[in-house]
Amino acid sequence: MSKLADNLTQVQARITAACQQYHKTAPLLLAVSKTRSAAEIRALYALGIRHFGENYLQEALDKQQELTDLAIVWHFIGPIQSNKTRAIAENFDWIHSVDREKVATRLSVAVPSGKSLNVCVQVNIDHSPTKSGLLPEQLTPFLAECLALPQLSIRGLMAIPDPGEGNAQGQAFQALAKCLQQAQQSFPGAPLDTLSMGMSGDLELAIAAGSTIVRVGTDIFGARANKT
Ligand SMILES: *Cc1c(COP(=O)(O)O)cnc(C)c1O
Repeated sequence: MSKLADNLTQVQARITAACQQYHKTAPLLLAVSKTRSAAEIRALYALGIRHFGENYLQEALDKQQELTDLAIVWHFIGPIQSNKTRAIAENFDWIHSVDREKVATRLSVAVPSGKSLNVCVQVNIDHSPTKSGLLPEQLTPFLAECLALPQLSIRGLMAIPDPGEGNAQGQAFQALAKCLQQAQQSFPGAPLDTLSMGMSGDLELAIAAGSTIVRVGTDIFGARANKT
């Protein structure tokens, strides 16, 4: 497992260097553990990581069952089927990929009482026709609806921009940061403090634009096998 420790040290060093270069405070490192085993999660936990991100509900539930002795904060970052909202609301602390009113409403009513679910709204920041997420111009009315739902704590925005050419990706991250600023102005008093952006290949650009959560899988755990 020393490979895992080496990888983690390298990712943390990249984050530190980017924060120094761009004069930013360090984002939360969310370890994306899709396709990885419960044993690998346990090993990374032993190295100090507490936040883990999963994309597939059943796979996540199986691993959670093996890891109930650990104080893990679970983040759901994958596409949400509306018939899975109850299980997601019950078994995760954060959801990064809310992009439909139906899903937001169903999550809200499924949150166990006494719990508050942290939500990021997914934004299709580069207007890609094949991607999920709201278009930036749809955000304000959608956020207004979500903020009215009980038991959801609407924390901010998430995006997965394409690599693009030149500085397209950096511009996409800056555009998402601008969307969050506008939302903060439109909804003062809302707990909108989160920009979930940046992955293995682009975390420096995301930090430059003010990321508060970077979601890193490959550069911590190694390359994923294709999911079958
Ligand atoms: C898989 C995934 C990641 C991690 O990507 P890597 O390139 O492996 O770091 C981050 N965010 C989302 C939404 C993902 O699905």
